[in-house]
Amino acid sequence: MKRGRFAPTPSGPMHLGNALSALIAWLHIRKDHGQFILRIEDIDTQRSKPEYARQLLEDLRWLGIDWDEGPDVGGPYAPYVQNKRLDRYESALHALEAAGRLYPCYCSRADLAAIARAPHGLASEGPAYAGTCRRLTAAERSTKSAAKTPSLRFALPDAPLRFVDEIQGPQQVPAGSGGDFVVKRADGMFGYQLAVVVDDAAMGVTHVVRGGDLLDSTPRQLWLYEALGLPAPAFAHVPLLLGEDGRKLSKRHGAVALRELQAAGAAPEQVVGWLAHVCGLRDRLEPVKASELLGDFRLENVGKQPIVVNGQMLRQIGEVSIKNSAT
Ligand code: GLU
Repeated sequence: MKRGRFAPTPSGPMHLGNALSALIAWLHIRKDHGQFILRIEDIDTQRSKPEYARQLLEDLRWLGIDWDEGPDVGGPYAPYVQNKRLDRYESALHALEAAGRLYPCYCSRADLAAIARAPHGLASEGPAYAGTCRRLTAAERSTKSAAKTPSLRFALPDAPLRFVDEIQGPQQVPAGSGGDFVVKRADGMFGYQLAVVVDDAAMGVTHVVRGGDLLDSTPRQLWLYEALGLPAPAFAHVPLLLGEDGRKLSKRHGAVALRELQAAGAAPEQVVGWLAHVCGLRDRLEPVKASELLGDFRLENVGKQPIVVNGQMLRQIGEVSIKNSAT
């Protein structure tokens, strides 16, 4: 049985980019009568707000996306909210520590900025860590620990990695790419990479379909699966929606939040129809229900390239609705 999920961070209103990822993740699972999970990724308590989480659920339902397990309906792997799963991340951390895969890092933000090397093509989490603290002796570690609480980093194996992304195709990642990454910050917050791996494994997720900005997180996650002895899911990364300035589509580009589109009178069929059209699932721009896309859905039909959205394309969402109401 295929199991997929949508795992948003409730740090802002749901926008067209999130909606596209959620839609494709849902279609990929429902097409094969699999189970779909909604998980709220709110370990970053400073960025996350319960109000956004509540809105996300409403916006997903409005789009016609449903789930079998989630924060509101429960399920066999509850809780479906990361902030209530911290004990799981702590146990995984102990396992990694016992296996000798972690080391303490005492570098400050300023140190990191100063020693940052050119990134190895990994963009989502800043420049690669140069490994300074990996080379400390035990004596140096104990002196530093007396003065400062360290963060914990995962020591990447010295080996290249290959995997096949179900949308983006074969990926080859050189050894050490991205650098050793933080799994627990000095202030106690767990890293996204660790939490997402622990949860996807614990919840039996077989297919991860998500935004293209997380493609470069995937090698780190694959190494964590390996280190924890857990089976890794299949991955597929959905093209990002970009503004004409090449940046991820956001409110600076216009009305891209589902809330705003709803307020402007758009119907879910208009938004879903527009998403299906821009990502390559439908040739024609016409209103369609999420469930109507199931019949001929194929992941192969989703385009690979980021989708550049200009103001005229955004206005088309409303025009679909006008044409529709005029007929
Ligand atoms: N919580 C992450 C985000 O909203 C997504 C995690 C994932 O899908 O792996 O960016």
